[in-house]
Amino acid sequence: MCAATALPSQSAEFPAWYGEVVRRAELAESSPVRGAMVIKPYGYAIWEMLQRELDDRIKATGHENLYFPLLQPASVLAREGALVDGFAPEVALVTEAGGRKLEEPLAVRPTSEALIWSTYGRWIQSYRDLPLLYNQWANVVRWELRPRLFLRTTEFLWQEGHTAHETAAEAVAEALTILHDVYADTVESVLAMPVLRGRKSRGERFPGAEDTYTLEALMRDGKALQAATSHYLGQGFARTYDVRYTGRDGTDAYPYATSWGASTRLVGGVVMTHGDDRGLRLPPRIAPHQVVIVPILREADRAGVLQAAAALADALRAAAVRVRVDDRPEHRPGFKFNEWELKGVPVRVELGARDLAAGVVTVVRRDTGEKSEIPVARAAAAAGELLDDVQASLFEAARDERERRTVRDRSGYVELTEYLSRAAGLVEAPWCGRSECEARVKSDSSATIRCLPIDERPAPPGACICCGRPAVTTAVWAQAY
Ligand SMILES: [Zn+2]
Repeated sequence: MCAATALPSQSAEFPAWYGEVVRRAELAESSPVRGAMVIKPYGYAIWEMLQRELDDRIKATGHENLYFPLLQPASVLAREGALVDGFAPEVALVTEAGGRKLEEPLAVRPTSEALIWSTYGRWIQSYRDLPLLYNQWANVVRWELRPRLFLRTTEFLWQEGHTAHETAAEAVAEALTILHDVYADTVESVLAMPVLRGRKSRGERFPGAEDTYTLEALMRDGKALQAATSHYLGQGFARTYDVRYTGRDGTDAYPYATSWGASTRLVGGVVMTHGDDRGLRLPPRIAPHQVVIVPILREADRAGVLQAAAALADALRAAAVRVRVDDRPEHRPGFKFNEWELKGVPVRVELGARDLAAGVVTVVRRDTGEKSEIPVARAAAAAGELLDDVQASLFEAARDERERRTVRDRSGYVELTEYLSRAAGLVEAPWCGRSECEARVKSDSSATIRCLPIDERPAPPGACICCGRPAVTTAVWAQAY
């Protein structure tokens, strides 16, 4: 832990700031394999809480967990042309094992649609077998040439849902339920990250999907992060893997599919949405320690202060607050303050002999730095209220920041692409729907269409910002992770 030297400036050196925060807050570090990361206990604790929140919602919407293996015959993956085209450069193959060359290479899953749909054929015989509403928690491998901890790693952790339905309407409804009730609810109410809900343009869809729904969040450097995606896959996978069942009318039918995923990249999203020049600012609902108590210890009154700190910690635990008493004798209070600020603990309580004599504690919130003195008797209740307030304030601050950096006026094409090319934020503007215009904006600014919003009022589209033809939709552009 080296909390002593200052972090790189977030506004001036964002990538360096990000890397240092992830490293010094002990979230993760690199491993001997390029692009694969070691997730450290503090980072993993955040992931575990996020995982639990997602898993509860996945189950509450009627899904069960199962598990498919890491390896699949390369030929199974190869049957789905779109998947192959989309993933071929990123797939790792096992060609040797047990001391000899394998007859058929095995693919390390980049995603599991192929293996799962090649199995669903045995599970779906009749309309009575539908729907299948399954999810798995797993690791996947996608060979990454420009890795960054949490954001793009060669191996990452995620959940992937794979469902099968009788009708297209049911499958679309499923994909949207996941987007809204599982992903958007978790990301906004737990991670305090405001998201745009939308669908991808054809050029940005998942390989093999008929529609990809997405959540897009704005990071503090002006780039967008795709927070989670949910795909309506139509009947493509069922046809490729010959999954047929006897329908209600006695004839053969192909089921409709969805798949959906959210990953450890969200941990990186939390860092880049809320972090500041002092380090992480964790939303309380995802913070491994919501409150840290730092006893100010002097030899004379040491025992009394520690006792008071322990009693306060008990009161907080009884109120279901995750609390840690930092009584490490080898560090001074100032060092501990810096360290817990770096690690983003939402509320710090300072407690010394003088405070105790006065019957108060000092409470400091990480998001604003605001300090207040609170009567000891009210400290546990006050901390709970503060945590709720920090959670709400972080969300509001991030939403205000996104609004401030979203350009909606009808400035000219040159101004808009200039804004996008310096990654200043989002541009929300009318689009004609043609891929030529999408490609032109990309080549002029490196920005892509992040989504076609579905939760906004249907704006009167006007003229395409690129070609001036009548627009068919509103699109949101940004540079992206
Ligand atoms: Zn156009």
